[in-house]
Amino acid sequence: MDDERFVSGLARGDDTVLDASLRPRTLREYVGQETVKNSLSIYIQAALNRHEPLDHILLYGPPGLGKTTLANIVASEMGQNIHVTSGPAIERPGDLASILANLSEGDVLFIDEIHRLSRAVEEVLYPAMEDFAIDIMIGKGPTARSIRVDVPHFTLIGATTRFGMLSAPLRDRFGIIYRLELYSPEELATIVTRNAALLKVRQADPAGMLEIARRSRGTPRIANRMLRRARDYADVRNNGALTAQMADEALVMNGVDGLGLDTTDRAMLSSMMDMFGGGPVGLDTLAATTGEDAGTIETVYEPYLLKLGFIMRTPRGRVCTPQAWAYMQRTMPQQPETAPKTDAEQLRLNLESTD
Ligand code: ADP
Repeated sequence: MDDERFVSGLARGDDTVLDASLRPRTLREYVGQETVKNSLSIYIQAALNRHEPLDHILLYGPPGLGKTTLANIVASEMGQNIHVTSGPAIERPGDLASILANLSEGDVLFIDEIHRLSRAVEEVLYPAMEDFAIDIMIGKGPTARSIRVDVPHFTLIGATTRFGMLSAPLRDRFGIIYRLELYSPEELATIVTRNAALLKVRQADPAGMLEIARRSRGTPRIANRMLRRARDYADVRNNGALTAQMADEALVMNGVDGLGLDTTDRAMLSSMMDMFGGGPVGLDTLAATTGEDAGTIETVYEPYLLKLGFIMRTPRGRVCTPQAWAYMQRTMPQQPETAPKTDAEQLRLNLESTD
């Protein structure tokens, strides 16, 4: 199961408390995602100047990249309260109606995993987002009628790991849409260094911080988790000095190699190589042969393997690149199906990979 993996960006049981304590509170403290921060700070300033709520915002990208954190920051920079819920938690249209009715003017409503809202619940959200009103049915049968009730002007912030699963009408109602990107090792080193101080690491060597950053798959949540384990290790083995060597030993002990890959990544690459000659292999086939959920492969494993340049998306499925073959220390077959694509094909793939 993916959520038990040490290198998964999904929150695990012990992450929730850690995430909350290490969450930056202001845009200034929020590391990286410069394009998003720059434009967001302008929209926030403009809304504050006009004394109006901010437009609805959709944040998407792999788990653990800071969507929830950013939503909290937006609320606090706007000087407003945030109400946090998630797609699966809102089961019935009435649940959403009561959440909306209890908001105050200007509040931020954060809905995580917004792609998992049911269609019936979405229907309630549309007029709320557009006209700040909900339609309530009174009575039953032939005498039933619908009345429109105003709700406070609020800002909806939706977060999703599966942009492609969002219905078009919902997507279209967000004025601001941002895709969060994987972080660079330097950005992650900044995050880890700040958090080492918060976690009272006795001696946080810059090389130790960079080692954790390099192996955390571009994902702050993973970096935080690794930091905590490496801190324990350095406490016991090195009197609290978290050097590069301590970080390395702690991560190897947790099954993470020099690039941040674990046995599950390697198993996936090797099944692509052994069973499909390196691909192309379709997502569903890959899911069936590795026993992983297709959605998890797409949102949790793939982004980092794509970023490393180990796999490519082609019109006929995923393909291992020569770098992946070299990493797995295997000989690439003679006729790899990684021929260059036409511009049109590549463009389509780039668009697809934004899902
Ligand atoms: P998501 O909602 O995308 O799954 P979170 O917002 O819960 O991710 O982020 C997980 C943790 O990673 C946060 O608690 C925070 O400690 C850290 N984090 C995420 N983004 C950043 C960032 N830009 N700067 C510093 N820390 C971050």
